[in-house]
Amino acid sequence: MTAVNLLDFEGVHLGSEGKGALAQLLQTPAIGAVSRWVWLAYDQLNLDFLSSLETKESLGVVLIESSDKGQRRPYHQQKLGVLLSNQRHAAVEFQETGVPVLYLIGDMTYADVLRQFSAVVGTVHAFKHAERELRVEVEPLVREGLLHLHHHPGWLTPRSWFEQSVGDQPPYRMDAFYRKVRQKTGWLMVDGKPLGGKYSFDAENRLKWKGDPACPEPPVFGHDVLDEEVERLVKNRFAHHPGHLDLRNVPTSQDDLVKAMSFALEVLPYFGPYEDAMSEQSRGLFHSRLATMVNLHRLMPRQVVEAVLQSDAPHNSVEGFVRQMVWREYVHHIHDVTDGFRTLDIPRSPSQRGAGWKGFGREDGEHHPNHLQQTNPLPQAYWEANSGLRCLDASVEAVMDDGWTHHIPRLMVLSNIANLLDVHPRELTDWFHAAFIDAYDWVVEPNVLGMGTFALGTAMMTKPYVAGSSYIHKMSDHCGNCQFHHKKTCPMTRLYWAYLKRHSASFVGNHRMGIAMKNIERRSDEQKAEDVATFEMVRDTLLDGRELRPSNEGDLRSWS
Ligand SMILES: Cc1cc2nc3c(=O)[nH]c(=O)nc-3n(C[C@H](O)[C@H](O)[C@H](O)COP(=O)(O)OP(=O)(O)OC[C@H]3O[C@@H](n4cnc5c(N)ncnc54)[C@H](O)[C@@H]3O)c2cc1C
Ligand code: SF4
Repeated sequence: MTAVNLLDFEGVHLGSEGKGALAQLLQTPAIGAVSRWVWLAYDQLNLDFLSSLETKESLGVVLIESSDKGQRRPYHQQKLGVLLSNQRHAAVEFQETGVPVLYLIGDMTYADVLRQFSAVVGTVHAFKHAERELRVEVEPLVREGLLHLHHHPGWLTPRSWFEQSVGDQPPYRMDAFYRKVRQKTGWLMVDGKPLGGKYSFDAENRLKWKGDPACPEPPVFGHDVLDEEVERLVKNRFAHHPGHLDLRNVPTSQDDLVKAMSFALEVLPYFGPYEDAMSEQSRGLFHSRLATMVNLHRLMPRQVVEAVLQSDAPHNSVEGFVRQMVWREYVHHIHDVTDGFRTLDIPRSPSQRGAGWKGFGREDGEHHPNHLQQTNPLPQAYWEANSGLRCLDASVEAVMDDGWTHHIPRLMVLSNIANLLDVHPRELTDWFHAAFIDAYDWVVEPNVLGMGTFALGTAMMTKPYVAGSSYIHKMSDHCGNCQFHHKKTCPMTRLYWAYLKRHSASFVGNHRMGIAMKNIERRSDEQKAEDVATFEMVRDTLLDGRELRPSNEGDLRSWS
């Protein structure tokens, strides 16, 4: 047994990590003085979890750092850093409020650590976990009575609201759920009617950003001894993982959280109108960048929604933001109701897990949702190779730098291009899961399988989100920095037509696809043949890890 911890209790021994900055800040709690030990998982870093227990018993918090978890996927180094540093800061902050904190560090699974811990302290208490992977891992302990699960207090909506508005069977549609949540909570409602006369102002929120209004620089956060220690740990243990690590760019402490919240409120007035815009001048534009902190529960979702509702930002921005927070609830319910889509009767196929990053590929024996039976691997352009497509390369560069982009690069560039290349949806999902600092199975899977790709068919969305160059040109400044001309040489629109033609049998009877299907049939045989040739050339070039370049003649050629 190789676990290392900050406390010397039977079976788990103090190790080298026990001499660092964290060990110096944490005191050793008296195990016997606590009547209930409560395990807060890595994404439950808030004392509101404890308050929700409403017990008079003395409570202590146990936090576990498992390098086994870090090794399961090629997690971006920034993602490992942001999670570990937040958990370590939370430990110190909890202790400062007088709560006894036990911090266990090891290379065992969470379940193995908890089994040993419960042998010393008896039944450990915990809250239903958001991530399926963690639920499955600790399920035997729950069955054996070693772990007692309580209701997770972080969600804003009960499952009954989802089932009453959407039902427990597909197709699942957000509109009905959103209306239900607004009615039940009274958010942005007057006399039972939506403020402004309609529930959604989305149609007004589609402006391109041309540099005005100016966008503030994203905040730079404090960098203390805990951040430094985590950076050293990640660099030592996870050097073979992708991505750039710099914890000054993400909140980790309470002071940072205050700064992050204040930035979100500062940009909120323009959040709505420019929600869908993309720019290389400002990667995040007016997006809050709060998702990571909300998903870790460093900020409770309710706290964020209440701050936004109390702001004096224009209604279309406030409504847009609240709708996004409700979308977060909606995807969680879908994950929960379908056991991560395992109960859905949809076409599936096996997949190499590991997102195409060196050394991580393996089949898991499961068959994953794949409505369109797309089976290509993820091109290396999603990790480190250049594709030559500026929109893709700029978005991947942002992901490698920050582990984050806002939702439109995720949807209309990164997912869109993978769709157009027939990448296996599971492989793309694994990439998002590993590469984004806010990704956890319950949120990344519905977003990528259900919305970013058409892997679930119409179970979540009425049609696939695919587009050619006109959308990217309209909503971003990427095309101006691209070697391709968005109308003359860019392959995207041909890829779009080729995709629609290839998968047309799957769209028969889908009235939302009717116009697109009619438009394909208007294309001449020659155009259709060129679409197919472009698809094959782009696919083969990118799957070979080579870069695309336009030739002197103005058409596409692949260059090694
Ligand atoms: C293909 C794809 C994959 C995605 N993967 C993730 C993921 O792994 N984790 C994740 O948290 N979000 C994911 N999203 C949703 C969204 O892109 C991010 O929540 C958002 O970009 C985070 O940036 P932000 O904090 O500035 O959010 P903002 O744009 O400022 O939105 C405000 C808040 O709303 C919530 N939110 C908005 N959209 C969603 C959504 N679709 N699902 C859940 N919450 C949402 C977030 O908590 C966010 O902080 C994904 C979207 C797409 C299209
Ligand atoms: S021209 Fe085409 S490839 Fe280049 S950025 Fe625009 S859409 Fe992307």
